[in-house]
Amino acid sequence: MQDSADIVVIGGGCIGVSVAYHLAKRGAGKVLLLERDEFLGQESTGKCAGGIRAQFSTEINTRLSLLSIDAFERWGEEIQEPLQYWQWGYCFLLTNDQLVASFKKSFEMWNRLGMDAEWWEPAEVEKRLPYVNMDGVQGATFYARDGFGDPSDITQGYAKAARRHDAVIENNVEVTGLKLDENGREVVGVKTNQGDVACSKVVLCTGAWTRDVAGLVGVDVPVEPIRRQIIVTDKFEDIKDPFPMTVDLSTTLYFHRESGGILIGMSDQTESAGYDDSFNEEFGEQMLMTAMERAPVLENASPKHKWAGLYEVTPDHHPVMDKLGHIRGGYVCAGFSGHGLMHAPAAGTLMAELILDGRATSIDISALELARFSDPSRLHDEANVI
Ligand SMILES: Cc1cc2nc3c(=O)[nH]c(=O)nc-3n(C[C@H](O)[C@H](O)[C@H](O)COP(=O)(O)OP(=O)(O)OC[C@H]3O[C@@H](n4cnc5c(N)ncnc54)[C@H](O)[C@@H]3O)c2cc1C
Repeated sequence: MQDSADIVVIGGGCIGVSVAYHLAKRGAGKVLLLERDEFLGQESTGKCAGGIRAQFSTEINTRLSLLSIDAFERWGEEIQEPLQYWQWGYCFLLTNDQLVASFKKSFEMWNRLGMDAEWWEPAEVEKRLPYVNMDGVQGATFYARDGFGDPSDITQGYAKAARRHDAVIENNVEVTGLKLDENGREVVGVKTNQGDVACSKVVLCTGAWTRDVAGLVGVDVPVEPIRRQIIVTDKFEDIKDPFPMTVDLSTTLYFHRESGGILIGMSDQTESAGYDDSFNEEFGEQMLMTAMERAPVLENASPKHKWAGLYEVTPDHHPVMDKLGHIRGGYVCAGFSGHGLMHAPAAGTLMAELILDGRATSIDISALELARFSDPSRLHDEANVI
């Protein structure tokens, strides 16, 4: 392995490869990405549902999505690698007054940002989504540019494009420490299980493990690992394509087409922080029951695959895109709280701007600074968390 680089990116999930690509494309010098697993995207990225949506309740999340959706739409032209990407929309079912009020507020913000989202009254929901049990449904929102994409294509595409711009990607390399100057203030390298690498800049794209890695230099980045799980059914054609990613926010149930079957996800609100990513069978049963209640036709579907993975959750469900506290040359881009795949293009673009230009300009990301966690008034309140 090379023993020096200009910038070391730690972590080869969708965020790390996007950051490496955007840095390399902009001619940031020798960019080296280090991933401890055998393959890229084996952790949260490879276990995610692939959802890509702009329907958030905070403006910063919505802006991150819109910047990313622009990039996904011109993927082939820019990245020159295949991407399976289905813009079949996302539909949020609104089943109580509070949700209706909250989405009405969001709807105004979406209009202001130029999104042509649709508001569906119950009759329209029934017509457009005949598979939905309408109990309690007071309406729905739909945005046609939302949808889902293949996490593996996104990861491999960015990795290949990064290599074409001379970035180097090393697997099976675990970063075990950051090397600082004699004052303990400036990055001079990283320590790994394969030897040291000298560098003046390092970017932590370490997902659910970010608190541990940042802790190596005494900086607290409050990202917690929280287990989330997915079930994919066997081939299932009783719901006709194309149909949107359908979300029942009151239960957090969501489902969309996956490899001929249906991918079903739901969040266990009682889950506590930890690295356990084994599948919880009991909660899996609850997921299936909830899915069959909202879409009774799913009674005819047979579960085929199931898995769990880790969300990388911050206290306000927004990522950190910032310098690494007081450490000069240190940066962090993590804590996407279950939205990292959809925000990967924006994350790479904005981090390259922050690192190379001193400031992100495509979007103002001051709202994503690390310091917000020590000031409760700066915390965000994202209502549309699944
Ligand atoms: C069940 C589930 C469903 C999801 N659904 C969606 C969805 O629909 N849409 C969406 O946008 N997001 C979704 N997510 C969230 C999404 O997967 C994450 O936000 C995203 O993958 C985060 O990417 P990442 O690169 O930060 O993390 P990861 O993919 O976890 O990558 C971090 C990498 O850092 C490496 N690493 C850590 N420490 C070190 C070290 N010391 N040295 C070297 N390497 C290290 C890890 O091995 C890992 O590969 C879902 C997640 C789960 C679990």
